[in-house]
Amino acid sequence: MDLYEYQARNLFEAYGVPVLPGIVVETPEEAQKAAEKLAHPLMVVKAQVKTGGRGKAGGVKLAHTPQEAREKAEKILGMNIKGRTVRQVLIAAGADIACEYYFSILLDRSNRRHLAMCSKEGGMEIEQLAKERPEALAKVPLSATGIDETVARSILKEAGFEDEELISKATAVLKGLWNAYQGEDATLVEVNPLVSTVEGEIIALDGKVTLDDNAHFRHPSHEELLDKRTENPLEAQAKEKGLNYVHLDGQVGIIGNGAGLVMSTLDVVAYAGEEYGVKPANFLDIGGGASAQVMADGLDVILSDPQVRSVFVNVFGGITACDQVATGIVKAIEILGDKATKPLVVRLDGNSVEVGRKILEEANLEQVTMVETMDAGAAQAAKLAAGC
Ligand code: GDP
Ligand code: MN
Repeated sequence: MDLYEYQARNLFEAYGVPVLPGIVVETPEEAQKAAEKLAHPLMVVKAQVKTGGRGKAGGVKLAHTPQEAREKAEKILGMNIKGRTVRQVLIAAGADIACEYYFSILLDRSNRRHLAMCSKEGGMEIEQLAKERPEALAKVPLSATGIDETVARSILKEAGFEDEELISKATAVLKGLWNAYQGEDATLVEVNPLVSTVEGEIIALDGKVTLDDNAHFRHPSHEELLDKRTENPLEAQAKEKGLNYVHLDGQVGIIGNGAGLVMSTLDVVAYAGEEYGVKPANFLDIGGGASAQVMADGLDVILSDPQVRSVFVNVFGGITACDQVATGIVKAIEILGDKATKPLVVRLDGNSVEVGRKILEEANLEQVTMVETMDAGAAQAAKLAAGC
């Protein structure tokens, strides 16, 4: 889960990283009030969208009076930045910037460790800096202990910081950012720009944070950070049930076991659907050990999608044998009752396939069609979705 800048700033503040005060608003009137409240000689009106490059796109503007903050907010609200509509702006106190730096900590998956990156040349996009002046970007692999005083100093030295007073202030900030990264189970904490002000303070002016969804259970407080408005209601329902579901925009519902199998099922259904103008409606991996309840939950989510006209259940029996899956389908249809009337195409293969097929045959469910292969299943499901 990615955070909005204002959420990242709140997090930084909680870990003692200096940020300037700000208020999130949704209308120009609120923007003016917020600016009056901040009563700062320089303010920044910032689009809250989960993408970088807002400045370049015109989504970050300075304001000197509440009236100006209102005008700038009016311009920014409703703006489209990289496909995202701006619904909220942050009215923040502005900094008198002396220098802009770059700092980030990220999970370096390919090397199985955390990595800190730091540069004295912040402000511009990091991809551009890495390409044009790679020598200006220090990359320091971190051990499991992360960033302590010594490590922070070595990162700053490597990035070319020399002024002792600056180093000592920045050291505290780097340690705070590491604590936020580790304490919240983040996979990315990026501050661009991290600035030094004319008054000699170090401040995080922007913040990009990605939290590890797999660690969600350890942080009940992260629930509040979810943006309920932009979340798809079906995805929210699936999340509640602990299902690995992604909503797509088609008509053929898909259930499979194993992410790889589900991905290839999406491909074959997309291919088979071309002829009829239908597409996969979702990704749903019920994983190994799928119980009847999981099958019922999965079908329930998929069948709640008004666009869905047929469902393709594609299962390769492994640890969960086909007979368990077949029983799951029968029970699921029983549990769902009137909610499960759309046609279901089922392809079973692998462990205990014969028993599984027998269970489905004997259940004699009118909405279920059994097929032998994945291609045949995709073709059949696409055809049914098209009403042929
Ligand atoms: P981004 O473009 O999405 O990364 O948004 P940023 O928050 O990084 O803002 C873009 C740019 O706006 C920064 O690099 C700064 O140059 C400028 N900016 C942002 N906040 C302030 C501020 O408080 N004072 C001043 N003078 N400039 C700011
Ligand atoms: Mn930025």
